[in-house]
Amino acid sequence: MSTILYLAHTEADGTLGRNALEALTAAKALADGMGAELAAGIVGEDVQAAADSVAGCGAKFYGVSGPEFGQSRYASDVNACEALVKACGADVVVAPATARFSRSLPGVAVRVDGRVDTHCSAVSAKDGKPVAERWFYRQRMKGELSRDERPWIVTLSPGCYEQFGESGSAEVESVSAESASRTKVTGIKSPDVDEQTIRPDASMLFVTGAGWTKKQGDGQTHVKQAEGVILDFLTKTKSSLGSSKSLVDISGEGHEVISFLTHLHQVGQTGSTPRHPKGLATCCHGEEPHVVGWRFIKDRRAINTDASCGWAQGKADVLYVGDAFAIMEKVNELLNG
Ligand SMILES: Cc1cc2nc3c(=O)[nH]c(=O)nc-3n(C[C@H](O)[C@H](O)[C@H](O)COP(=O)(O)OP(=O)(O)OC[C@H]3O[C@@H](n4cnc5c(N)ncnc54)[C@H](O)[C@@H]3O)c2cc1C
Repeated sequence: MSTILYLAHTEADGTLGRNALEALTAAKALADGMGAELAAGIVGEDVQAAADSVAGCGAKFYGVSGPEFGQSRYASDVNACEALVKACGADVVVAPATARFSRSLPGVAVRVDGRVDTHCSAVSAKDGKPVAERWFYRQRMKGELSRDERPWIVTLSPGCYEQFGESGSAEVESVSAESASRTKVTGIKSPDVDEQTIRPDASMLFVTGAGWTKKQGDGQTHVKQAEGVILDFLTKTKSSLGSSKSLVDISGEGHEVISFLTHLHQVGQTGSTPRHPKGLATCCHGEEPHVVGWRFIKDRRAINTDASCGWAQGKADVLYVGDAFAIMEKVNELLNG
């Protein structure tokens, strides 16, 4: 019988992250579909709480734990994951495409003489065999992959599955691995949570368009006011900030710009295709090259003064026809309440 290994690492607080919980949903469905055994391997300083939080999946649990495995470090992560793959004799490994695993699992595939496919969007059983899906060419074409080599490691991007949530009490078999702690992690430096406006885990995408910098009804631009309104909303809701291409391109044209926008915020055909349950576009026309980047946004809304803008042509679920400055100021006021 084949063995599907669900591989995860704990977060700093000892829990499993969203991406890891989603990958478990996929791994369990794959094991059920293939009639295979499900094993779960967790790496972390202490893995018991994480294992208990998903014990309802019915897997046999393995863990590599200890202070040296609490931190993301290529050498110790590769050792830990290699030991887990070997301990359960995994044929297929399903893991979240976190930064930590994206860095280390390709190395594990080499160590165990297997293969790896990263950033997949699905893995499922077809005629009893595992098949992975991946988007190509800036998310315009979806490919189906299968491989004969084993073990086959598949990492899954966030936002593709529901999170697994059946807890219980797990019996974890401890697996030993070399700590390989030649590299010491002395701390983590990351920008302040409010400086970091691209938030892949946010429940809402807030898109800004070039209209925020255009002359308004009074014949003037109000870019500083726009910045204040946008930042206020982002700080209050912790939404992820996206932009149209026109707005991020303005910086190259010497116009007054929204200071916290970069090309990394651009959504669309030549930008990103983020995954969020909801999206709100403001002062953005909703042209096709922009809206193709909204393919994974489930509930789409837009605010535009123009009732016949692109969003009104079947691209949004709801279009609010009005002045985004006034509407968003009111929304921020209500959020204060
Ligand atoms: C090959 C190619 C690739 C491209 N790739 C991308 C891409 O990846 N991403 C992308 O975004 N674009 C892309 N584009 C560009 C795209 O076609 C549009 O030009 C761009 O998205 C327009 O940006 P915008 O809607 O912000 O600006 P505009 O088209 O200038 O629209 C501004 C909107 O703001 C509204 N507005 C103004 N003031 C207010 C107010 N006070 N309240 C409410 N609404 C207001 C106006 O009514 C208007 O609809 C691409 C184009 C090409 C040719």
